Amino acid sequence: MLSFVLANALSGTAVGAPGTIRARRCQSRRVLGTVPLVSATQSVDAPHEPRQPDVAALIPTVRRVIGSRVANREQADDLVQETLVRVLAAADRVEPGMLEPYAIVTARNLVASMWKEQDRHRRNQHRIVDLPTMRAPDESLLQREEGVAVADALARLSERERQTLLAHEVAGQDTRSLGEELGLTAGAVAAQLNRTRARLRVEYLLALEQAESLTDRCRPVLFALSSGDRRRQREVDAARHLLECDLCERLSQPLMERGQQSDNAARIRIQTDGDIVLARQGARELASRLGFSGTDLTVIATAVSELARNIVRFARDGEIVVELLEEPRRGVRVVARDTGPGIPDVEQALADGYSTYHGLGLGLPGARRLMDEFAVVSEIDRGTTVTMTKWRQEG
Ligand SMILES: [Zn+2]
Repeated sequence: MLSFVLANALSGTAVGAPGTIRARRCQSRRVLGTVPLVSATQSVDAPHEPRQPDVAALIPTVRRVIGSRVANREQADDLVQETLVRVLAAADRVEPGMLEPYAIVTARNLVASMWKEQDRHRRNQHRIVDLPTMRAPDESLLQREEGVAVADALARLSERERQTLLAHEVAGQDTRSLGEELGLTAGAVAAQLNRTRARLRVEYLLALEQAESLTDRCRPVLFALSSGDRRRQREVDAARHLLECDLCERLSQPLMERGQQSDNAARIRIQTDGDIVLARQGARELASRLGFSGTDLTVIATAVSELARNIVRFARDGEIVVELLEEPRRGVRVVARDTGPGIPDVEQALADGYSTYHGLGLGLPGARRLMDEFAVVSEIDRGTTVTMTKWRQEG
């Protein structure tokens, strides 16, 4: 599963096994369909409950097992989270004393299957660009061209931009520690990374198009669009330029379809298994800026991962929005929305021991156990919105 998830995330394609997902979705539809449709809208606010089993207590052990085998931090984080998800999913079936050894074995197995992964760095390059893929699944020529375009685009960045971006995206260094090295706040590093990504997307598209007849207005206009900077767009009169320039008109489509990313929030469209990884990395990255403990970061990322998984499996299309909170306390709020079939009985779906989707993953009760606040609103045939919050422990 993990290799599948990673392969999809890193290559940036939406291939994988759509057939599997579709089949599972039909299955869940059938299951849900047998339940009589009750009230149209349900809302359940769940107060914080003690965690059981105590997942957090397992994290240091799992981290040690994986840390001694995997040097790359981002990879290690993914493996820790994946281990946790599996252990929690099995928790009902094993006695409490078994959890730790089971966690260790699971972690080792995941690491072993990880080694079978091929060169990660190369595949990672596609993810950096962060654009919807334009390639059909098995056209290797196009794939090579994309690789070349990424390399060209990276070469157009300044040395410092490139180093910071690669440290963050490929080596997995978080904005906090990058900020310490660069003498900047984590927020300033995040803003700089957003600008770098915006430039990289522009250069990537230009390289991909092999655009030759650029006017001197094209780059500034495309950059203003790519970064979502409306003031800049007015200054360079982007609207007029788009009407006059065929190239920019064409390239503006993929740039604008991405939507805007703020420095204190992340919005991730969820459609494929690859998006699950992006969602949990995004949540982790944001939360790390507030100084959450390593354990809490893993807990948050795991809960996000579960909600994203549910979206992929049962709704197929949705989004996860992660935002940092300053009031009333420092914390991170996650909203997961989908346009799926809805949950017929939210209260039952949240009950401990009840796996919403019949044994796949942690489901909602698992995610709820991990967070401080948790609320679900679901409407049959309209979709489900889950809002959950984790507060930072002060002191
Ligand atoms: Zn132009």
